Amino acid sequence: MQHPRSLLAQVFGFDAFRPGQEEIVQAVLEGRDTLAIMPTGGGKSLCFQLPALCREGVTVVISPLIALMRDQVRSLREAGVEAGALTSGNTDEETEAVFRALDDRRLKLLYIAPERLASGATTQMLRRVGCGLIAVDEAHCVSQWGHDFRPDYLRIGDLRRSLGVPLAAFTATADEETRAEIVNRLFEGREPATFLRGFDRPNIHLAFAVKDNPRRQILDFAAARRGQSGIVYCGTRAKTETLAQALCEAGHAACHYHGGMEADERRRVEVRFQQEDGLIVVATVAFGMGIDKPDIRWVAHADLPKSIEGYYQEIGRAGRDGAAAETLTLFGPDDIRLRRGQIDEGLAPPDRKQADHGRLNALLGLAEATGCRRQVLLRYFGEDPAPCGNCDLCDRPALLFDATEAVRKALSAILRTGESFGAGHLIDILTGQATDKVRQRGHDALPTFGVGRELTKPAWGAVFRQMMGRDFVRPDPERHGALVMTDAARPVLRGEEGVTFRRDSVAAAGPRPAVRA
Ligand code: ADP
Ligand code: ZN
Repeated sequence: MQHPRSLLAQVFGFDAFRPGQEEIVQAVLEGRDTLAIMPTGGGKSLCFQLPALCREGVTVVISPLIALMRDQVRSLREAGVEAGALTSGNTDEETEAVFRALDDRRLKLLYIAPERLASGATTQMLRRVGCGLIAVDEAHCVSQWGHDFRPDYLRIGDLRRSLGVPLAAFTATADEETRAEIVNRLFEGREPATFLRGFDRPNIHLAFAVKDNPRRQILDFAAARRGQSGIVYCGTRAKTETLAQALCEAGHAACHYHGGMEADERRRVEVRFQQEDGLIVVATVAFGMGIDKPDIRWVAHADLPKSIEGYYQEIGRAGRDGAAAETLTLFGPDDIRLRRGQIDEGLAPPDRKQADHGRLNALLGLAEATGCRRQVLLRYFGEDPAPCGNCDLCDRPALLFDATEAVRKALSAILRTGESFGAGHLIDILTGQATDKVRQRGHDALPTFGVGRELTKPAWGAVFRQMMGRDFVRPDPERHGALVMTDAARPVLRGEEGVTFRRDSVAAAGPRPAVRA
């Protein structure tokens, strides 16, 4: 059987589980009856789709919405998974193909509308072809008191009894009564493994800072936490080694860790970290999976993580004991270029690349947040909390400014120079610097030349970075560093939309932002 984590990457194209997913996947894989309550958009489907690929036989998915089923079947097929649906929306050919795949025991996921359960034929057929798991989406539809009641959901209990297989039920509705009803009707009153937990880790302080002098920033952060166990995540193996050395030279107990090290060397670091107090491990994301240390007091990212999911997982290693823990994530334009480049140059099909860019945008939205970070983070996972009081932006609200004019000037500089230049040259044009390159290309004759003198060069750098963060401009992978305008910027260029940026991010390009002690 393939490891769930490798399937997560290979089949679904995700680099990390979302909060809650891994535990649920594990329970379902073990064949336990499971009830998972997750907010809408939290990523429930994966919790049955991934186990379905690992388990014997076909997994039957009961879902109330035909459109949703068809969507899921389509994206599973695009990912190379044998999936099908039996709904009233099928053509005869589609239904025929599904039955053939079932008979050949090829099908891994079969979506059916609950109405199908009204005739015993479906149950007969499922017994014949070997069903290994029943997954029930929107399980609250079994509740007679809720407004989504679907009478056919009451037949699911019978289906489970006659197939004698585990059942995994999913819903976003968490109230006590609905849950009790689900347990009664789907699990005959026997308590399933139940997963209901908010995603918040309120004891973890969240903070981001623009990279200025990253080594200095990490050293300062560690110096303020001398003697505490911490992890520094880096984007490359080489950096883990140089940064660990710098920390040692600053008098910390620190070592590096990455996938290129011998297994026993890695093991030594893991054991040391587990047993010693106050060790700092400077690592790539390879570090952490097997680590179960409750008193990690801080996690710093020396480079922007891959996704919000990865970020959440990595900072989540801090403060498992519930005591206060601190985090700091550094990011800068180079991170954005690097991540965009990795997506563009990857082998994924276009749809997935687009989804990956979208996820990167969400992470950059968190990095450049203008209000409480925890709100931005948890909203991404489907929750909607009040401002947290435990993040850098709650501690010190961001100063905002209307960047509409600045963005339009920058876009105009990009367009007038044929989308062929990087931020450095564009900033020279905007601030009216007649450099050799500017003069050689005749860019000192452009109407945009010198129109941005009201901002300093570092301030313009921050504007360009935030434009990249909003996905208004992307570096062209074909032409190193050249910025190209995206459709997202058009409404701003046309004057239909305004833009608000953070002034403190702009200022951060000058003096270093204070790090909370
Ligand atoms: P719901 O809980 O509402 O059923 P979905 O299963 O449709 O949510 O997932 C919501 C979105 O989250 C989908 O776009 C899905 O691709 C994405 N998603 C789910 N799991 C992950 C993950 N581990 N990493 C990144 N994206 C994920
Ligand atoms: Zn906050």
